[in-house]
Order: sequence, then structure tokens, then C-alpha cells
Amino acid sequence: PTHIWWIRRDLRLKDNPALHSALQGGHSVLPLFILDPRLLNTAAENRRHFLFNGLRRLDEDLRSRGSRLIVRSGLPEEVLPAVVAETGADGVFAEEDYTPYAVRRDANLARYIPLQRVVGVTVHHPAAVVKPDGSPYTVFTPFSKAWKALPLPKPLPPIPDHLPPPPFLPSDPIPPAPENAYFPAGEAEAERRLLEFLDSAVFAYADDRNRLDVDGTSRLSPYLRFGMISARRAAALTMEKIQQTADPAGRKGAETFLNELIWREFYNAILYHFPHVLQTAFNPALRNIEWRHAPAELAAWQQGLTGIPVVDACMRQLLTMGWMHNRGRMIVASFLVKDLLINWQEGERWFMRHLVDGDPAANNGGWQWTAGVGTDAAPYFRIFNPILQSKKFDPYGHFIRRWLPELERLPDEYLHEPWLTPAEIQRKTGFKPGRDYPLPLVDHAQVKERTLRAYQQSKPRE
Ligand code: FAD
Repeated sequence: PTHIWWIRRDLRLKDNPALHSALQGGHSVLPLFILDPRLLNTAAENRRHFLFNGLRRLDEDLRSRGSRLIVRSGLPEEVLPAVVAETGADGVFAEEDYTPYAVRRDANLARYIPLQRVVGVTVHHPAAVVKPDGSPYTVFTPFSKAWKALPLPKPLPPIPDHLPPPPFLPSDPIPPAPENAYFPAGEAEAERRLLEFLDSAVFAYADDRNRLDVDGTSRLSPYLRFGMISARRAAALTMEKIQQTADPAGRKGAETFLNELIWREFYNAILYHFPHVLQTAFNPALRNIEWRHAPAELAAWQQGLTGIPVVDACMRQLLTMGWMHNRGRMIVASFLVKDLLINWQEGERWFMRHLVDGDPAANNGGWQWTAGVGTDAAPYFRIFNPILQSKKFDPYGHFIRRWLPELERLPDEYLHEPWLTPAEIQRKTGFKPGRDYPLPLVDHAQVKERTLRAYQQSKPRE
């Protein structure tokens, strides 16, 4: 008898609950990935490439254990029943995914194929982290307390060196794709990053995670997004680190990192319980803000030409790497929504088009939070000052210099506000604001009133 391991966002062999379940009972296991045009046609090129390279790595890892990956293009509701019929499989094991599309797809399929969903995208199932009365949390801190009170699932035993060979089936080719130099795909790379991070940067993470000019974070997000590393293994190793670290500052670093992993769980839970957040603001009172229609300003923001160096540096980092620092995401999101008064959903869409870690739950959560319209949001009247953020989190301007070569000639003290460069320095350096680099799109000091008014005038629709 055959079991199908239907791979979706769990591209790994280690600590994989779906694979583990499929291997039970001595079945032959068929590792299957379905290239679903509904998902692929809308996915950003960066993520498609990362996925394809991840599949190639996974196939190599499977082959080194005597198995191999079967790839089929098509709609799951057509492909899966066909593969079940071809193999006579009596079980299909897949990691449960909480996006609205995935929930619908799986519920539909489960009616006519033996589909078994296991928990794995998150450490705990969203329905397991709820208030005593069974209702979902909408605030992070109590959610995280409840999350921490649950026992961590036991780590799974290593899988055998030799996997039962799958029945012979033709496989579609994995489309060729260039490797993202900043994020090489695959489980081995993910594992290396996690272990290296937990051996060094984690100890300074509590402070360094906010610095734009320091590589102080794990850069694991694309790997967690596609399950090239197991979320629960990351959480378990982090908890171990907390227990083993005597130095309070170092321990705080590990605790803060665990907290970020729990933010990921939180936003997955929000999407699971409130799928409509992908369409509208969580807060009904803030669903009808009159946003500005300003295509030229939106385009300047997208291309990193707003005239605010920290914003532009972050946006160029996104275009080049397919990734942006968390502090940067908050700064540019706040600038788009609060300074330009452009709908946060425009930003959400742009991020999804470019982020290699682009994830509906985390991205939507991050945008709603920054816009102040979400569950556990920053109060909307608190508005980031991008210049103060810039000076605080890129104090020497190293980050700005790295991403904005046009500011190369500018002395450090004007990097955060090039429009203030005195005439004499302009003469000496040959740098001219407005010619060599755009003047700021807006004056931050003047936009606050406009934003507060727009938010206050939003009325819940009956
Ligand atoms: P680390 O600091 O090393 O954190 C470790 C892991 O924890 C991350 O890899 C990520 O999986 C998780 N994590 C950290 N912060 C958050 C958070 N605030 N919410 C949810 N998970 C978190 N993260 C995504 O994975 N995909 C997105 O599409 C995404 N969009 C965002 C949009 C906005 C506007 C904002 C403000 C944040 C967004 N984030 C998103 C969260 C965060 O910015 C990234 O997870 C983080 O920058 C990834 O870098 P890292 O792996 O080095 O993070």
C-alpha cells in the first residue's frame, strides 16, 4: 500500500509531521508536489524561484535516501484524485495550511480523497491557542502567554536513511530558476542559518534586531515561509537556549527571538479565525478611511525615490534582495500609510509582489499593525517620524550608504536629511539636492493633521 506525502509548505525531511505520519505502518511513500497554477500565477517571481530551487534541493535529499520527488502541474482537485487512482494510495498526508484558499481547497478535497491534515505550519494549531471560553485571542501578549503554557510537541525521531522507494510515476520537470544570492534555497541552508544564529547573534538580538546597519536577525523568514525549517524545531532549540543561557542579556536575546516566532503563530491564528482580514481592516471603525489616490507618489515609494533616504534605502533593499529588515518594513509602511495617506493594502500588495518571505498572514498582520487598523495595533495616532527612526537605527548612515549610491559624496551629517545640505557643502562636494537625489515628497511635520483627520472621519459602515 502507498501513502502520499502531499508537500505544500513543508519542503524538508527533518521534523516533518506530514512525512512522519505518511511513513507509519511500513507504507511506500510517494512525495508529491503539485504546481498549482492558481497559486503560481499570483505568486511573486522571487517566491516562485525560491520554491523551485527548494523543490530541487528536496528532490536531491530524497534521492540520497533512495526516494524521489514527483511533481505534477495542475489543479489539486484534478491532480490529486488522479494520483490516488494511479497508485491506489489509501492515505494522503499534508500539513494543514491556514490561508483561506488552502482551507477551502483542503475541505473540498477531504470529501473525496483520504486526506489527513497534520499540524506543522505553526507549532500549535490556531484552534488550540484560545481563551478559556474557546474564543480567539486578538491581543498578542495574552496569546503568547497561552501559547507558552502549552507543552511543546515532542521532537520527531529522525527519518530512516533509506526511504521506501515510491511507485514509479512520471514526474513533470521542476522549472529552472535563478538562485537568490541572499537566500539560497533548501533545508541544509536553513538548518545552517538557525544553528549559526543560535550560536552567536541571538545573544545580542534584543538590541541588534532593531538596527538597520547590523545583520542582527536570523534571516530565516523565507525558510520558515516554505517550511525548509520546522517552526517547532526552531522554537524548541530557542527554548533550550533560553534555559542554557545564564547571562541575563543573552537570555533576553533568546527570549525576544522566541517572541518573534510567536508573533508568527499569532498572525497565523488571526488569519485562521478572521480570514476576512485579507479583504479589509480588522477594526470595523477604520474600514472607511478616505485614502489619497496618488499614483505618482505610490510609484516613488515603490521605486525608492521618496527623497527620505531611510525609506528609499529600505525600498531598494526590497527590490534587490526580495527581503527587508523588520525595522525597515515598519518605517516604510508607516511612511506610505501615515505620511502619504495611501491605502495600506497598496503596500501589502507591493510587498507580496517582491518578498521572498511574503506570507499572507504575517504580511497582512504587519500592514494592519503599522496602519493602526488591525487586531493588536499600534494606536493610529502614533506616527513614526522617519528621520528620527533613521538616526536612531542607522546612526552612522552605513545602511543608507549601502543602498543609495547617489548619496556617496554626502558627508555623514546630512545623510539622513540631504535637503538640508548647506550651499557650501553642495559646492565642495558637487552634490545637489533635487538634482542628484529627489527632494522629500512630503514634509513630515505637516502631514500629521491630514492623517489624524482622515482616521477620525472613518465611520463604520452599517
Ligand atoms: P527574525 O528577527 O530573525 O525573526 C525570526 C522569525 O520570526 C522570522 O523569520 C519570522 O518568521 C518571524 N517573525 C519575526 N517578526 C515577525 C512579525 N512581526 N510577524 C510575524 N512573524 C515574525 N514576515 C514574514 O515572514 N513574511 C511577510 O510577508 C512579512 N511582512 C511584513 C510586513 C510588514 C509591514 C511588517 C512590519 C512585518 C512583516 N513581516 C513579515 C515580519 C518581519 O518583518 C519579518 O518576519 C522579518 O523581518 C524576517 O527577517 P528575519 O527572518 O531575519 O527575522
